[in-house]
Order: sequence, then structure tokens, then C-alpha cells
Amino acid sequence: MMFFISNVIGINAQRSRDGPIDGPMGLYSLAWRFGFQLEAQAFSRHLHGINLNGEKLVDELVRQAGSVKAYTALYDLRRRRETALDDIIEALEPRKHFCVAHSASDTMFFAFISLMKNAARNALLVPWPEINEAGAISFLGLLSEDEGRAVAWCSSCYAGADKERLSSRLQKAVEKYPQELTILPSTDSWMAWTGLSPRRHGILPNLSAGEGDEEDVLF
Ligand SMILES: [Zn+2]
Repeated sequence: MMFFISNVIGINAQRSRDGPIDGPMGLYSLAWRFGFQLEAQAFSRHLHGINLNGEKLVDELVRQAGSVKAYTALYDLRRRRETALDDIIEALEPRKHFCVAHSASDTMFFAFISLMKNAARNALLVPWPEINEAGAISFLGLLSEDEGRAVAWCSSCYAGADKERLSSRLQKAVEKYPQELTILPSTDSWMAWTGLSPRRHGILPNLSAGEGDEEDVLF
């Protein structure tokens, strides 16, 4: 049983590096329950879009993970991401590029910062955000083909911006943007009674056939 579970976690953790995975919440809970730190981190990248205020979801998460810290860790990540949005916006130098109409009054300026933040928040929901060739301008919906993210900008804003420079600044900000947990499963209670030491590194990056054998004896 344990061998099966650790295989499921391991295989999906590998897959989670390439694209979307099925049931990331369930996998995250399992990884937490078994103290697989790297795997819990990998799955946490896929949970940026979930609503952490849903009571049912929280109950389910805590029950499956066997620890309220599994929820606290996600909540902490969400909080750090929200704070770090400021660095993303800063990289775009809005004060420098907004036209007079968009920067003359504080009300207008902050309203547009809020739109930029919203566009950035949405663009950063993916597990591995990248600044593509269209770069910063597209990323923040300043000139987006993605209608869901498009922000209505006037033609003067960012018209004369050095887009290559902005994209490179944004790329650096995105690389520093919090994507994974920092609060990790460590000494879960089940380890105490099994006598096993915590799996500090889980089963990533190598899922070797021999890994699960010793655990198989457990169940
Ligand atoms: Zn403008």
C-alpha cells in the first residue's frame, strides 16, 4: 500500500514539472501526510488558483493531510505571493510610463495599479510562469491577445517604453516570485510510531525502484 502511494505521489510529482496534473489537492495532502517535502512543494505550484476560504475544502485538506499545517503552509504561500505582486508591478515602472491622464491623480494612478496587479495575479496562477516573446507588455495584459486579461490602456501609456528592458526586469521579478511552500511537513506523527525518520527529501528527483521496498514492509 505504502509502495503504491509513494509511487503515485512520485510519478505525479515528476509530471507536475511538465504541465497540469489531475487532482493536485489530493496529491498535495498525501505528500504532506507522508512527509514528502519536495513533492508537497511541487504540488503546491498547482494550487495557486484554488479558493482557500472554502470551509469544505479546508476540512478535507486537513483531514487528508492529517495536519492543519498543510493548510497554514498554503495560506502562507498565498500571502507571500500577494505581497510580492508589488515587486512585479515595480519592475514595470508604471510611474515612468503612465501618460498624464493615468498618473495625474492618485485615484486614477492607484486604480490602474490595481488593474495591473489583477492581471499579474492571473498571469502568475500557472505553475511555471514565463515571460514569452511578447514580454512584459503582454504579461500584464497591457496589450494582450488574451481577452480575459486585457486591460484597457490608452495608446500613449508604454508606447515609448523599452519593451526588451522591461521584459528582462519582469523576468527577474517573476523568477523571485514565491511559487512554492516554505512551511514544510517535517516530523509528522505517524513517523514517531513507525520508527522511521522523516523523509526530508521525499522521493524527488529520482524515483528508483528500490525506494519503496523498505516501506512496503510497513503495511
Ligand atoms: Zn495612458
